[in-house]
Amino acid sequence: MTSMINTVAVIGAGTMGIGIAQVAANAGHNVLLFDINAQALETAKQSLTERLNKRVQQGKMPAQAATSLLSRLTLVHNMAELAPAQLVIEAVAEKLTIKQAIFNQLEGICHQNTLFASNTSSLSITAIASQLKHPERFAGLHFFNPAPIMKLVEVVRGRETAESVVNQLKALSLAWGKVPVVCRSTPGFIVNRVARPFYAETLRALEERIAAPATLDSVLRDAGGFAMGPLQLTDLIGHDVNYAVTESIFQAFGYDPRFQTSFEQLELVQAGHLGRKTGRGFYHYHKAAPLPDAKIAEKIPHNNSLLITARGAWQSLPTFAQLLRQNGICLEGSKCDAHKHPTLFIGDVMVMLTNGELASSQAQKNNQSVVLFDLSADYGKAPAIAISCAAQNSQQENQTVIAFFQSLNKDVIVLPDYPSLLNMRTVAMLCNEALDVVNKGIASPEDTDNAMCYGVNYPKGPLTWGAEIGWQNILNTLEQLAEFYGDGRYRANPLLRQLAAGHQTRFAKELQ
Ligand code: NAD
Repeated sequence: MTSMINTVAVIGAGTMGIGIAQVAANAGHNVLLFDINAQALETAKQSLTERLNKRVQQGKMPAQAATSLLSRLTLVHNMAELAPAQLVIEAVAEKLTIKQAIFNQLEGICHQNTLFASNTSSLSITAIASQLKHPERFAGLHFFNPAPIMKLVEVVRGRETAESVVNQLKALSLAWGKVPVVCRSTPGFIVNRVARPFYAETLRALEERIAAPATLDSVLRDAGGFAMGPLQLTDLIGHDVNYAVTESIFQAFGYDPRFQTSFEQLELVQAGHLGRKTGRGFYHYHKAAPLPDAKIAEKIPHNNSLLITARGAWQSLPTFAQLLRQNGICLEGSKCDAHKHPTLFIGDVMVMLTNGELASSQAQKNNQSVVLFDLSADYGKAPAIAISCAAQNSQQENQTVIAFFQSLNKDVIVLPDYPSLLNMRTVAMLCNEALDVVNKGIASPEDTDNAMCYGVNYPKGPLTWGAEIGWQNILNTLEQLAEFYGDGRYRANPLLRQLAAGHQTRFAKELQ
């Protein structure tokens, strides 16, 4: 199917356009690159040439491959010259009227079988195509920045897009070495919508003054297993860009509290502290000094003769169970109460994964000292673990638990008693949003997980992660948070309720 596409036209030679042109030329297509700004065209080719030369010098690319890639790239100064293209990908400014005008004009230039695609991040594919005579040939083809490196491409189906067009774009993306996922045209598509809670939960914790930015980032990165903390990531993306995406989704969803914007981030935007690009965001980048360190507990000697026992079923925490076994803690005796929440008794302290309740509430309920630990994608690999201690615990008890985790080679981050700590609430919200995408038929469970793994490098797809933790645990977390805050932000998706109840859903097989 993809062999029908020899010539690819790219409109817009900015950040994304030149990256997409490189991907297509690298795959052997002749590429016609057009921009209204002739200088932008020259600059783009120049910067691509420099990037390829660097790769050649570093031994990452044969000189011949770089030369032939560049020979397939032709700069054009008039849209009429795009007539030979079998596929046109538009990557111009994010404005509906500009994009509509470009495709309306292209209909008079290109062959009727030419495929049209837009790299828009936030505009409706249906709306861009609305004035076309043949909207069925139009789809979204959403690359991620930098396009030559990021694997994910969202193939976005507008209301009128033909199935054959979706299939051709999917096959083409695969041939280009990408991971295509298919979704319906809805605000934020998959990635930009499902990822909102990743930023929002940490921004809320910052607003509630739970810890300093470096500590909050470390909880997600070093304890949770995410590639970057949300605050350092938004500093990199730019707060103007990140805030605008959240705001547009918040608005598109009728100001649903799930997507509530953050005043903390708005203040940064209003101050002009947009992140790395302005030298200041949550962190300062002017000085050569490294970023501030997270606050971790001081080293405490561990008492080896302490009695440590385990109870409950550990399948929902496979890497935590493995870490315990590797450190000589026997979990096998806990089979008899396989239905119970996995619990470690360190001396007299109950140590459990957070599930939305405060440590102090759990201590009151159990009439026992309680320490809760946060979720991690891989407890073995994570260099840190985040915990919170019930107010009723003695300092000695807390220190015993801290020393235990330190004896497992973990930096221990002690957060205040905060419901669901930070990773658990973030992952529960990511699951909830991913399930909404699936429940509304916007994308398949597999594509939704792939989108989050390849588009934003999450350590696990939210749906795979949710099934592992257990849907009932995810639901408990959200229900506890909903009660704690009393707002609609944490309301559980209907599909989550069905999964937690063990009902056979349309997606039961994929979501187990
Ligand atoms: P950019 O500002 O870097 O480049 C846009 C280019 O389009 C400029 O060179 C401009 O001269 C040109 N242009 C503007 N109007 C034109 C017209 N009528 N005809 C031809 N050329 C025109 O923008 P970008 O960051 O590359 O974004 C382009 C598109 O890709 C947007 O729709 C954006 O939402 C989307 N996108 C951006 C990113 C990102 O991280 N930058 C990621 C994914 C998708």
